[in-house]
Amino acid sequence: AAKTAGRDRYVIFDESMYADALQEAEARLSLEQALADNEFVVFYQPIVDLPSGDLIGVEALVRRLHPELGLLGPDTFIPLAEKTGLIVPLGQWILTTACTQAAAWHRDVPGAERLRVSINLSARQFQDTDLVQDVAEALRTSGIEASRVVLEITESLLMQDTDATISTLRRLRELGVQIAIDDFGTGYSSLSYLRRFPIDILKIDKAFIDGIATDPDDATLAEAVVHLGQALRLQTVAEGIENADQHTLLSDLGCTYGQGFLFARPAASAEIEALLRHPADAAVNWWPSN
Ligand code: C2E
Ligand code: MG
Ligand code: MG
Ligand code: MG
Repeated sequence: AAKTAGRDRYVIFDESMYADALQEAEARLSLEQALADNEFVVFYQPIVDLPSGDLIGVEALVRRLHPELGLLGPDTFIPLAEKTGLIVPLGQWILTTACTQAAAWHRDVPGAERLRVSINLSARQFQDTDLVQDVAEALRTSGIEASRVVLEITESLLMQDTDATISTLRRLRELGVQIAIDDFGTGYSSLSYLRRFPIDILKIDKAFIDGIATDPDDATLAEAVVHLGQALRLQTVAEGIENADQHTLLSDLGCTYGQGFLFARPAASAEIEALLRHPADAAVNWWPSN
């Protein structure tokens, strides 16, 4: 009740609010400690060309290796990192780690020179005044070629503070990186809205891919998004492809790229490197044909 009290009301700081604040402070401290203790790990999930299945890139996906609880997914700490602001230093660490890893693969693994690395940016990170500078710094320290880097932002960001968003996207693209809209189709951006933004890639949310082979409505929506991407000359990536029927349908629609458990799950860098070095061992053909 205290949280919703108006200006002229007495605000009662009750015990449950105190408990909430304490819990959040403890949680932030624990995340800060985890960052200091190097508990965060970047996993990478392959992104493949459709229909060939050739590996063209990887998406960096963060995990926490907790000393007692084991490997924790981003859903257990990213929302809290956003809320407490720790996402800014954590995000910078992810950016630098992923760019440095990809630059090493470009340098050391024959055939991997053109591998792309996609990195998720949270809303708070995107709105941070130092973002463009931080991205430039990660590019510089890693030595990666900027055109191999994709930054993923969510569709909902496009609907907030449009002019500032467009200006940040322009400055990022001037650095040479590409921009992807993640989880596309779950927000409410209109066609005319979308074309105002300087972007390169649409990632079609898994929610539409799930039913693509079984639900005619999902199939129609996925088709509409692929065609929208084509009309706007954007690359399209289908997220969460789990079976061969989905793969075939998306290939037939002309979707550019795919990502999902059918091809590979997110894996530690050593496993990805083994895949890059010994593509013949993998279930699909990993070598870029062009
Ligand atoms: P996202 O960016 O949309 O990432 C795709 C998620 O779908 C990943 O979950 C991936 O493991 C999962 N996925 C991929 N293919 C399949 C599939 O075929 N089936 C199923 N069931 N799932 C699949 P993950 O790694 O748990 O990440 C969840 C979300 O957490 C990400 O969604 C992203 O929004 C956020 N996240 C992950 N890493 C980072 C990061 O480094 N920074 C920020 N800001 N957010 C991150
Ligand atoms: Mg993503
Ligand atoms: Mg996504
Ligand atoms: Mg998603």
